[in-house]
Formats: sequence, C-alpha cells, structure tokens
Amino acid sequence: MIKLQNVEKVYRTSSIETLALNNINLNVKKGEFISIMGPSGCGKSTLLNIMGLLDEPSQGTIEIDGSRVESYRDKELAHLRNQKLGFIFQSFHLINDLSVLDNVEIPLLYRTSSAKQRRELAQEALEKVGLSNRMKHFPKQLSGGQKQRVAIARAIVGRPEIILADEPTGNLDSVMGNEILSILKKLNEDGATIVMVTHDDAMAKQTHRLVRLFDGTQVQ
Ligand code: ADP
Ligand code: ADP
Repeated sequence: MIKLQNVEKVYRTSSIETLALNNINLNVKKGEFISIMGPSGCGKSTLLNIMGLLDEPSQGTIEIDGSRVESYRDKELAHLRNQKLGFIFQSFHLINDLSVLDNVEIPLLYRTSSAKQRRELAQEALEKVGLSNRMKHFPKQLSGGQKQRVAIARAIVGRPEIILADEPTGNLDSVMGNEILSILKKLNEDGATIVMVTHDDAMAKQTHRLVRLFDGTQVQ
C-alpha cells in the first residue's frame, strides 16, 4: 500500500546539512497496522510526512497503492492525499471557532459538493468515534480525548485507505490514550492501513509490526 525504496532525506539550511533519513526501505501492506518508534530527532515525523506526501525525499521512490508519485505535480499530489490519506496529529489541529461537525466536514469541502451529503458523512464519522452527542460543541468544550476523537472523525470522513497518525496519544492520559488506540484498532479491522508514530511500547505491541529508527536509519 505504501512502498518506500532507498529513501533518503537531507535537510539543508545555509550552513548545516542534516541526514534525517538514511536509505529507508519499507513496504506497508494493505491492512497492516504498523508502529514507528525511536528517540526524539531520529526521523519519525519526517518519515510519516514523506509517506503522507507532505514532504519530498531527497533520494528514493515512493509508491502509494501502486502509483509511483515522484513525477506527480503538486495538484496531483494534493488529489492523491485527499483521496487516499487521513492524518491525525498529537496536538489535534482542530479549528477552534468551528463546531465539531464543521471541523469534521473540512476534508469533504474539496470533494463533496452537496452540503446535505457532507453533513451525513460527518455525522456517520462522529458516530464511529462515539461522539454523536457532541456535534454542536466547539473544541474548547471538549476533553483532550474527545478532541482527538473529533480529529479521527475528520481523518476518516473521506474513507481514506491509509491513516497516518503522529503520536496520536502523546497528549493524552493512559485511559484516553487506550480509547484512541481501540478506535484505531477497530478502523484497522474494518480495512484501513495504519501507520502510527508512538513512544509507548505497550501500544506498539498491540500493532502488527514495529519499525524502529535510530539517527535516520531503520534498526528494526
Ligand atoms: P522525530 O520525529 O523522530 O523527532 P524529525 O523527523 O522531526 O524527528 O527530525 C529528524 C531530524 O531532522 C532531526 O535531527 C531534526 O532536527 C531534523 N529536521 C527536521 N525538520 C527539519 C527542517 N525543517 N529543517 C532542518 N532540519 C530538520
Ligand atoms: P475530562 O474529565 O474527560 O477531561 P471534562 O471534565 O473536560 O472531561 O468534560 C466533561 C464533559 O463535559 C465532556 O463530555 C465535555 O464534552 C463536557 N464539557 C466540558 N466543558 C464544557 C463546556 N464548556 N461546555 C459544554 N460542555 C462541556
């Protein structure tokens, strides 16, 4: 589903070069749930951003669902991202002056023209994460775990085949973190391919496979 071959990422600023990823070869199969672990600065976010087509590698190739993307233009990348990928971040990234329902509808603005259909899909996504009783709330009226559930609803509302989650439980206590993991596991059982960055060994153990990075190199 996601295939990286010989991926290298070098960040260049005026005087410094950082090798953030060094010759990564990774094949995430359809239906897999994998964890990425490693110390701070080892390249986890860079790897996730490259898988999510948010950043380009300096070397190497990326395939998403069989399509090699290096020749794609920005517009085609944005389209592919919108069709195939859902993102979840540690700090939720909700828009504070939009209601829960309006936040969840955002990804559909680019692809579903009917307001009624957007509303129905958003309601369905919120039901999946157990938040149908909070649709009219605003983010500041929610607990951290609830905010992350809204963010998950927003990530899945377009029914992406791939979910990329960057420390989705990093800002949550263990009870809420486990609730979020349960939701992700359910989405995976329903067919989503999931890549999750985590610092939590117990959570990584509940996924199918662990990829460990050290200093930009895959060590497991
Ligand atoms: P992690 O997510 O594992 O903490 P990152 O992928 O954020 O690691 O970063 C990997 C390395 O690349 C780090 O050494 C970091 O300082 C460097 N880095 C990340 N983003 C940039 C950037 N935009 N410019 C320069 N260096 C960066
Ligand atoms: P937690 O203890 O899980 O962090 P909170 O105590 O923040 O949760 O909230 C408990 C419940 O009250 C939540 O379901 C939340 O949706 C609701 N809530 C919290 N703040 C507000 C508010 N300002 N307006 C309306 N509902 C709120």
